[in-house]
Amino acid sequence: MRSASRSMKEASKKSFLDQTRQRWKVTVFLALILLGGVLLALMIWRVNDSTSLPWAPGEVFFSLTGTSVVLISVLWLWFSVRCPRCGVKVASAVLTKEPVTTWLRRLLECRECPGCGFAGDQSRR
Ligand SMILES: [Zn+2]
Repeated sequence: MRSASRSMKEASKKSFLDQTRQRWKVTVFLALILLGGVLLALMIWRVNDSTSLPWAPGEVFFSLTGTSVVLISVLWLWFSVRCPRCGVKVASAVLTKEPVTTWLRRLLECRECPGCGFAGDQSRR
């Protein structure tokens, strides 16, 4: 009994995303946001300097691709992070409740599903 309660304690230190093996989805999201940021930075560079590197795509290309990449990354996170028990969209639940400055930390640190309180598969083992 003692070892079981200890392993539960250790497991509860892990976040909901770790418990449900969904942390990589946040990593993909961050990578896409970074890519979108680079594309938008290239757009700003292109607006200020349209003469050098004539083979490079124009600012319209960069603004369209940059904006769509950012949009896709938000939609990806919104719909992909789900609770395996009740199916609630965890990221969207956190995003709509938390201010913009803290929601990512809240999402990474949250211990249980905001919908049903499911805290990963630690209780099943
Ligand atoms: Zn749930």
